Amino acid sequence: MLFVELIRKKRDGKELSREEIEFIVSGYTRSEIPDYQVSAFLMAALLRGLNHAETAALTNAMLRSGKVLDFSEIAGSKVDKHSTGGVGDKTSLILAPIMAAGGVNVPMVSGRGLGHTGGTLDKLEAIPGFNVNLELAEFRRVLVQVGCSMIGQTQDLAPADKKLYALRDVTATVESPSLICASIMSKKLAEGIDGLVLDVKTGSGAFMKELKDSEFLAELMVETGERMGKKMVALITDMDQPLGRYIGNALEVAECVEVLRGRFAGSEDLVELTLELCGWMFFLGGRTLTKDAGRTLAQEIILNGKALDKFRDLVREQGGDVRTIDDLALLPHAAHHDDVLASTDGFVSTIECERMGIASVMLGGGRFTKEDAVDPAVGIVLHKKAGDVVSAGEALCTVHYNSAERFAQAKPVIANCYSISAQNPQPRALIHRVIQGKSN
Ligand code: URA
Repeated sequence: MLFVELIRKKRDGKELSREEIEFIVSGYTRSEIPDYQVSAFLMAALLRGLNHAETAALTNAMLRSGKVLDFSEIAGSKVDKHSTGGVGDKTSLILAPIMAAGGVNVPMVSGRGLGHTGGTLDKLEAIPGFNVNLELAEFRRVLVQVGCSMIGQTQDLAPADKKLYALRDVTATVESPSLICASIMSKKLAEGIDGLVLDVKTGSGAFMKELKDSEFLAELMVETGERMGKKMVALITDMDQPLGRYIGNALEVAECVEVLRGRFAGSEDLVELTLELCGWMFFLGGRTLTKDAGRTLAQEIILNGKALDKFRDLVREQGGDVRTIDDLALLPHAAHHDDVLASTDGFVSTIECERMGIASVMLGGGRFTKEDAVDPAVGIVLHKKAGDVVSAGEALCTVHYNSAERFAQAKPVIANCYSISAQNPQPRALIHRVIQGKSN
C-alpha cells in the first residue's frame, strides 16, 4: 500500500477500508510513516470527515495498537465512566467507590487537566502519597481488592493515541468528532470493560459549546462502542457553570469527601449528576433492572457509609495518606484566601465557565505547558451560583492562593466571570439528553 494514495483517497472524499486504516495506524505506531504524511492524512480526515465504519475501524486499530486488558476472571461486571471534561467536574472520585461498594468493578484510566478543564489524576494526587502511576499488575491487584482502581494512561494502553494526539495538538486537527471519538474510545475500550457511561459536556465550559455538536459526538461514541460489543449510554450534561462548589485539586477532593459523608448541601448539582451517572452504571453493569433503581442504590450506599469506606480503601491501596479522608485539614491548604465581592444587587445570571477554569490554572491549579507543576492547594470556592440572589458587597466566591502575583492576575478574571442581572435567569437543565445504545 502506498501511503500517499491513502492521503489522496481521503483528500478526495472517498471511503477508506478497514485494512487501509489499520495500515495507517500500525505504520505510524511503528514509526514507519513520517509525521508529515500522517499530518496530511489527519487534515484530510478532519476536512472530509470519516463515516461511522471508518471511525469504528480507526478506533479498533488504535485500541489494538497496545494491550487490551482482560479482567474476565474477576467476578462481577466492569463498567467505567468518561467525561469530555469540565470545570469542577469531580464525579469520578465519588462514583468509583460507590460502584465498588455496590459490586460493580471500575477499572478507570483517567487523564490530567487539559486546557481550562481539570483532570482526575491531578485531583487524586492532591491526596499526599496517592500513586496514579501503577503498573498494570498493581492496577489489577487494587481492582480485585477494592473493586475500583484509578490510574493514568500507561505506555502499553493505546500507544497510537499518544502519538496521534500529540500530532493533532500541533496540526490543528483536534476538533474532528471522529478523531476525538477514536482517541477517547480506544483508551476506554483498552480497559477491558463491559459497559461505558459517557458524560458529554455542553456549554461555556465544555470543549463542545453547542448542544448539536455534543449530541453528534455522543451519538458517534455510543455507536462506536456498541460496534465493539460494549453496553453504552451517553448523557449530554450542562457545563455552562462549574459543577459543585469547589474548583481546585485539594478543594475538590474535600468536596467529594463531604458528599461521600452524606453532606450534600451546597453540592446539589454535583450530587444529582453523580447519582444519575451511578444509576446508569449500575444498570449497564446488570446490578439493577433500571437506571432509577441504580440511582436509589447509589444514594443508599452513600448514606450507609459504605462508599466512604471504599474511598478510604482505594486511597490506602494506592499509597495515599488515608488520614486525610477523616481529617480534611491534612489535605494541602493554600496560605491565603480572599473574597471576590458582588458590585451590585441582583441575581447571578451566568458564571462564564471556561474563563473560571482558566483563572484556576492562573492560580497554579492547572498547566499552561506540559512542564508546569500543579499547586494542589489553590482554587476557588463558589458561594453563589446561577440563579442565586446577591447583594452588593456580598462574597461571590473565595479565592485560595499561594502567590500574590498570581492572585492579582486571576482576581479580575474571576470577578468578570460573574454576570448579575435584575431578573432571575431561566434555569438550565443539568441533563439535556440521554442517548442509549440499542443493546441496553
Ligand atoms: N480527549 C481525548 O482523550 N482525546 C481527544 O481527542 C479529545 C479529548
